[in-house]
Amino acid sequence: MNLSFFRQSRFPGAFSTLQKALRSFSTTPRFLRNDVDSEAPDNPDFFSMVETYVDRAAHLVEENLLDRVPISIRSEAEKREHIRGVLRVVRPVNHLLKITFPVRRDDGSMEVIEAYRAQHSQHRRPCKGGIRFDEAVDADEVTALASLMTYKCAIVDVPFGGAKAGVKINPQNYSVGELERITRRFAMELAKKSFLGPGIDVPAPDMGTGEREMSWIADTYSMTIGHGDINAHACITGKPISQGGIHGRVSATGRGLYHALDYFLNDAYYLSRVELTPGFKDKTFIVQGFGNVGLHVCRYLHRQGARLIGIIEKDVSLWNPKGIHPREVEEYKIENKTIKGFPMAEETTDDLLVAQCDILVPAAGEKQITSKNAGEIKAKIILEGANGPTTPAADKILIERNRLVIPDIFANAGGVTVSYFEWLKNISHVSFGRLLFKYEKESNYHLLESVQQSLEAKFGRSGGPIPVSPSAEFQKRIAGASEKDIVNSGLEYTMERSSKFIITRAHEYNLGLDMRTAAFCSALEKIYITYRDAGLTFS
Ligand code: NAD
Repeated sequence: MNLSFFRQSRFPGAFSTLQKALRSFSTTPRFLRNDVDSEAPDNPDFFSMVETYVDRAAHLVEENLLDRVPISIRSEAEKREHIRGVLRVVRPVNHLLKITFPVRRDDGSMEVIEAYRAQHSQHRRPCKGGIRFDEAVDADEVTALASLMTYKCAIVDVPFGGAKAGVKINPQNYSVGELERITRRFAMELAKKSFLGPGIDVPAPDMGTGEREMSWIADTYSMTIGHGDINAHACITGKPISQGGIHGRVSATGRGLYHALDYFLNDAYYLSRVELTPGFKDKTFIVQGFGNVGLHVCRYLHRQGARLIGIIEKDVSLWNPKGIHPREVEEYKIENKTIKGFPMAEETTDDLLVAQCDILVPAAGEKQITSKNAGEIKAKIILEGANGPTTPAADKILIERNRLVIPDIFANAGGVTVSYFEWLKNISHVSFGRLLFKYEKESNYHLLESVQQSLEAKFGRSGGPIPVSPSAEFQKRIAGASEKDIVNSGLEYTMERSSKFIITRAHEYNLGLDMRTAAFCSALEKIYITYRDAGLTFS
């Protein structure tokens, strides 16, 4: 086998990784075994959990990819070797950076901060993935989250590799000044080591971070290592508008979740499988985690007429079968820094993950649905806002119980999709819609005028002018598309197209309700094609 091509490959490290992969492949190819499900332990480490999901899909796509290998590969054995080799190259995390650095606390004491950035794949560049501030952060978590990002980007056709960062702190224990020092120092460390830059690695918000932290990072980068780079602000997304952010990014993950759910709530096959009627109107839902993702998904589902009946937070669970208004909880939380004490719902010690409802939205941390509670879950649809909320063992139970899990790697991809739009805006240095706004508006008025003139030319004006007025829908659009309109429409289109693609895969592979495997199949197929077309062939 001639692997000389890899020595000149565009993918750094691909040659040695592929050699390693092929060597180990000849022993026990994990993803060829059919029994991976039964092996899934109840509490796997997070990265193994993702591997289990990848295993299931890799086993299936191999058959489908056989006729898509480069034509220079003739025998079936070599074709299989090629597919397995490439898929093995994809799996491990490419780079994992662990950093410790000091921070001065407000009382003058020093503390050592531990932080990580994992770059899972550079098959497309830059790498992309959020920065999390959380006490539970460790190498396993960021590695797993980075790998999920690779598959997620592929599913929604965002041309980035996967990455993730974590700083092991509870942000609530630090003042704003301390958080700023931690964030800026972390940004410097990342930049110095080539883990931050508009063409290299572009983080975004995740748990415990938001626009403020993204703004500090953009500022730190553009004032230091990126000072001569006109694209410096594209080193991070999720920024405030004034710093190059984009309209719709803050709510994008929640909005994307709504679109994903909407698609399935209109699909007769899946609705009949889970015995639900179409539409949002009569549906009840419970959310775990009332942060960025939780709040915004609640807003969109509520707006469509679904009823929020329970919220699970770290310090309290709220319950009101008559419905909770997301805006009121949001306002209460802004004022009180907690939802505890919210007067329009009762506090409960019941486990609301297993309470009666139509839709459950885990939007907090990973491994919340395990084999211990999966058998008790009443919701017919589990819409995964969080990354990795369901263990493989639980996933299997839910499918067996005819529950539809709309998986994280597709459902919560709205955030990275709009981050991609923000990055495009930053590198093109113009906001979407700006160049065409006025032109479109005038064109629309000319169009109406021209219709009127044609009608009058044909039928005459003896009865007076023939008025041609825009319909209510056209009137709304007559002024042309604003940045917000373009972002929302691009997001909806992305979620719709990806839903269709995943559903096609589910039917093609006869997966029933197993949308997660369908989503991973969709991702692996696309990633394989990227590697193949970049020239990773055996000659
Ligand atoms: P966030 O920090 O804004 O909110 C998380 C919320 O969950 C907080 O209110 C926190 O108190 C609560 N929480 C944490 N642990 C909990 C627990 N055990 N039980 C109940 N509540 C708990 O974070 P976020 O940005 O909303 O992210 C939430 C999840 O969504 C994470 O898994 C994240 O990786 C994923 N996600 C986020 C985005 C994004 O754009 N922010 C995109 C895709 C996926």
